[in-house]
Amino acid sequence: MRLLKNALGLAVFASFFFVPSASAALVVEVDYSGVAAYEAAFQSAANTWQGLLGGYQDGLIVSRSFGSTALENQVLETVRIQASVASIDGAGGTLGQAGFTEFGLDTSGYKLATDGRMQFDSADFGGLTPGQREALILHEMAHVLGFGTLWTDNGVYVNGSGEFTGVNATAVWQTEFGQSGTPDVELSGGVGTANGHWNEFDTGSNFTGITDGLGRDMTFELMTGWLNPNSFISELTLASFRDIGFATTNATAVPEPGSTLLWSVLGLAAESRRRLLKRRLAS
Ligand SMILES: [Zn+2]
Repeated sequence: MRLLKNALGLAVFASFFFVPSASAALVVEVDYSGVAAYEAAFQSAANTWQGLLGGYQDGLIVSRSFGSTALENQVLETVRIQASVASIDGAGGTLGQAGFTEFGLDTSGYKLATDGRMQFDSADFGGLTPGQREALILHEMAHVLGFGTLWTDNGVYVNGSGEFTGVNATAVWQTEFGQSGTPDVELSGGVGTANGHWNEFDTGSNFTGITDGLGRDMTFELMTGWLNPNSFISELTLASFRDIGFATTNATAVPEPGSTLLWSVLGLAAESRRRLLKRRLAS
């Protein structure tokens, strides 16, 4: 990927354009191919995120990566995700991969995902329960939209620090979760898990003792490195999306289907069936 304009160019360029006072509603457009039975689950996840994220604070695209479908000088509305469930390597091995593939920069300087990809191996995907599949798709779609994948580029995380520094998430961390400092980011679990999820203790096997206003422990949050039964999308996750350019004006935490899986996809990293099985057996 390459930028068509440098940062200095952006600043000058942006001054010539009117910035809308309200962004357009986000549309997560899923271009699905593959096993028909799973298509509805991808659309359901898209509906959930577009409802929760709403749109962008700014979103007026002033430059974009070479292959981006976003249009310059227009407010980003549609994030296009190519999704498929098809044979990759049979049972075991690679479960799938997900991440953003193209991006745009808005006048506020946010780097926003404009296009992405989600691929799952039908041989492994079919072995999950419907609830597990939906949670898996929600989780990976969040990575496509920037969770953990566009943190450093948006200046809210330094790899290896374990601390998410966005102001919105930090406020929620302190007021709703009653914590001091900044939200804790996972540093264990290896490449793909570390630096891209909320922190859990003991690789997801124990409560964190950190609970939201409804008493829900962070170990059950959707965007931790290890997902547990009865997972939920917290205000912390939604606030973190505000920190990377989304609007999320009516952020309301909603319960999501639970499962017991180990997530590990960051960018286009692969997630292995072996690790899933390990976590499921350990629960
Ligand atoms: Zn993940």
